[in-house]
Amino acid sequence: MDIYSGPVFEMARTQFHRIADHLEIQGGERDRLLYPKRAIAVACPVNRDDGRLTVFQGFRVQHHLTLGPTKGGTRFAPSVDIGEVAALAVWMSWKCALAGLPYGGAKGGVTVDPYTLSRRELEALSRRYMQEMIPFVGPHTDVMAPDMGTNEQVMAWFMDTYSMYQGKTVTEIVTGKPVATGGTLGRREATGRGVAYLVERAMERLDRPMAGATAIVQGFGNVGAIAAAALAARGVRVLGVSDHTACYFDARGLDVPGLLRHAETVGRLAGYSNELIFDPAQLLAQPCDILVPAAVERVIDAAMAARLQCRVLAEAANGPTTPDADEVLQTRPDIFVIPDILCNAGGVIVSYFEWVQDLQQLFWDEVEVNDRLYRVLQKAFVAVLERAARDGVTHRTAAMAIGVTKVRDAKRTRGLFP
Ligand code: NAD
Repeated sequence: MDIYSGPVFEMARTQFHRIADHLEIQGGERDRLLYPKRAIAVACPVNRDDGRLTVFQGFRVQHHLTLGPTKGGTRFAPSVDIGEVAALAVWMSWKCALAGLPYGGAKGGVTVDPYTLSRRELEALSRRYMQEMIPFVGPHTDVMAPDMGTNEQVMAWFMDTYSMYQGKTVTEIVTGKPVATGGTLGRREATGRGVAYLVERAMERLDRPMAGATAIVQGFGNVGAIAAAALAARGVRVLGVSDHTACYFDARGLDVPGLLRHAETVGRLAGYSNELIFDPAQLLAQPCDILVPAAVERVIDAAMAARLQCRVLAEAANGPTTPDADEVLQTRPDIFVIPDILCNAGGVIVSYFEWVQDLQQLFWDEVEVNDRLYRVLQKAFVAVLERAARDGVTHRTAAMAIGVTKVRDAKRTRGLFP
């Protein structure tokens, strides 16, 4: 299984072996649990606006099919390679199992900087990627969703492309679609909303009020912007935010609605202010109650973990904390970690609701979506805290142990074919 390499897959592998040690899982069974069932690589040729032809490389990794179809986002980013995609698929498996969803994990992506594409080029790439994946996906095989660099519009193009080839509309092939094309109310906000909900639960445990607490949010896309808005709506003062174009900090608190309006209008944070510009390398280490990394992997390494001055670390991104940093955090009981597979699970939970609604063609109102979301998150949150207390382990180990055990039990019970 040498095809899975690179720092992100190494991180998923190291984390998994720590859990496997904890659960005393031996040799072959470890490999069976860790290595993805399928990996697909495709070439996506696209005619560019300037007349050139560019071939983009795309991937999809389906980790396991033991509990049902696989489920996972599609990332358009320059960093995308088979190892990164595989790591994200593995994390999705533990996340779905922790939340009790009937899915294995998957992830896909294209190695491209989506910010350099015109809208027409983005549509062409999205459609070609989905067309190349048609033999390998399906509403009961593998269901895609958005991730970094993709959004509701891309999901609508995916759904339309798949449907054209089937000769009928198949809304349940992707989640995270616009509501007008079979999406669910509350999906776009689900991940960020779930982050804020879990932060509130963590603050309750710490006996700290949300109103007047301070937060810093790294990443101002779908997850970060909505998490910032949901925290601000609970009375939290957001001191710092950043995206890949700018970083702002104000010890008195930033105007979150103003930042949202700016980002919505121009598509990035750059250009919002000259006075509030801050060094992005220092952002995560600023004192605050709630720190929300909501951008890319591996932003908190061992050195950064030692410098953190937050009370709650809410991992909204996938894999923001390296295994080395985990070792440091283990020695810092002053930091309450909400591990990624719990913290950002709101997205896949409401994706699951969207899939269920599409299959039944029976749609819920937003109150029902959110109530169900919070119930699932609450149950997973309590399970993680209880397991951590029972076994004397970190929240991450507890969360992953619950997820891995569910997949392991299902594999054992189903047996090994043939
Ligand atoms: P997005 O593309 O909507 O936004 C990503 C944001 O991160 C952008 O604001 C971008 O400018 C910023 N960014 C990129 N590199 C950065 C850097 N080096 N420093 C600071 N900011 C940077 O993506 P998203 O959907 O919000 O996803 C963000 C993270 O959340 C990813 O790790 C993703 O896997 C995870 N996630 C997303 C969902 C979802 O529902 N969208 C669900 C679960 C987890």
